[in-house]
Amino acid sequence: METIRNYIGGKLVEPAAGQYLDNVNPATGEVYGQIPDSDATDIEAATKAAKEAFASWSSLSNEERSKHLLAVADLIDQNHEKLAMAESVDNGKPLKLAGRVDIPRASANFRFFATAIVHFSSESHMMGDEAINYTQRSPVGVAGCISPWNLPLYLFTWKIAPALAAGNTVVAKPSELTPMTAYLLSALCIEAGLPAGVLNIVHGLGTKAGQAIVEHPEIPMISFTGGTNTGKSIAATAAPMFKKLSLELGGKNPNIIFADCDFDLALKTSIHSSFSNQGEICLCGSRIYVERPIYEKFKEEFVARTKALTVGDPLEDGTKVGALVSKGHMEKVLSYIDLAKEEGGTILAGGEQVKLNGRCNNGFYVAPTVVEGLDHTCRTNQEEVFGPFVTLTPFDSEDEVIEYANSTNYGLSATVYTENLKRAHTVAARLKSGIVWINCWLLRDLRTPFGGMKQSGVGREGGLEALRFFTEPKNVCVKI
Ligand code: NDP
Repeated sequence: METIRNYIGGKLVEPAAGQYLDNVNPATGEVYGQIPDSDATDIEAATKAAKEAFASWSSLSNEERSKHLLAVADLIDQNHEKLAMAESVDNGKPLKLAGRVDIPRASANFRFFATAIVHFSSESHMMGDEAINYTQRSPVGVAGCISPWNLPLYLFTWKIAPALAAGNTVVAKPSELTPMTAYLLSALCIEAGLPAGVLNIVHGLGTKAGQAIVEHPEIPMISFTGGTNTGKSIAATAAPMFKKLSLELGGKNPNIIFADCDFDLALKTSIHSSFSNQGEICLCGSRIYVERPIYEKFKEEFVARTKALTVGDPLEDGTKVGALVSKGHMEKVLSYIDLAKEEGGTILAGGEQVKLNGRCNNGFYVAPTVVEGLDHTCRTNQEEVFGPFVTLTPFDSEDEVIEYANSTNYGLSATVYTENLKRAHTVAARLKSGIVWINCWLLRDLRTPFGGMKQSGVGREGGLEALRFFTEPKNVCVKI
């Protein structure tokens, strides 16, 4: 049994109230560790440490801060196997996926922002020969970073790295469901010699420790990734305090397949975009719209490939779909399968919980599920399920599919398959999504703006957008 501790002021410490929560391995359903059930007292201590560290951290040169962050990135790489195993056990995702995607991306996040900050420059605006304006960009202070459970270390570091690179200090909370790699990261930060108080990691419940971060008067900015309802509640608390807010929220992403596509590419990539990470990626394409001339062929082959995916022990090599993150989340996904049936859908694949033998007998597994026959306006096609669950719907024209695609309250990402260049550009322009992939999915360049429209979020992460968020601009106008 591993007991996780908070990382405050450079030290690993017990929660002030001495209270702990169980940490469950979703692959087996067993409790395998304890997590601090931190409260406002712990957040207060973390904020105090972050405030004390701010003056010296923010006055380091960009090159010096960069060196610190690169040292953390190196240690993540050196501990790749240990971190991948921890991520798989904590989250239920296949070990192979954690090793190939989550952990390399965590070190890439540190490396990317460690190098971006030494190339970051601010703007200047000449007013003819009368005056020059230049923009100072200063770190803001203590940043509050709150992240979800689906890509634990990947998304945690995606916030922390730019916040630190820009010269802020941080109070961060990972999801209570997946705290392990954030805990291991705190040990690596100590080993890397990151100055005390620069990064503070407090574990616990969102409604308690998370809420205390959002409410804290001395944390002037919040970077949050998670569900839309949580985002609403955070915005309601933070807005009257005039905090800077970056909200990366849910999605219900359309996957649009035109008859002129590269069929094999669309098929193969749609399997990934539907079921990678058990469908627990905010960018997964959960509504698949296929142009009628190829609908039946696509359906037949997509369903056959879905049925061939191995649901199994995340630690086994051949497993393609692991465990869902928690019993509660599994029940939510199963309830959407029931809803799909009530709404008149036909289950073409999956549609039930999977019971595995042996050590995974009590784990949280759901068969990859494909449903057809649902109207684009029904709840199943409007609400985020966030599991191995997709719907298939035929369409007859570009206008029709654009209407379907844009019909939800979400606007995070969309994927389009077509070999027609002109159509690719016009459809991309008409989609109300922050990210559009043409003939690919989850191809990421960390310099690009990342985020959603409508209820998928406010603001953008990534590249210079993140460095701009984590700095306060000040215009200085000098008369010549
Ligand atoms: P939640 O909104 O439930 O939780 C996200 C984080 O916020 C967790 O650390 C949670 O803590 C914390 N939290 C919960 N309530 C509060 C509160 N009142 N104040 C402060 N913090 C709080 O999301 P999930 O963890 O369930 O993640 C899944 C969601 O995240 C999906 O909707 C998905 O689409 C979205 N997501 C969006 C991404 C994007 O980039 N747009 C990327 C990845 C996921 P705890 O869990 O410990 O209670």
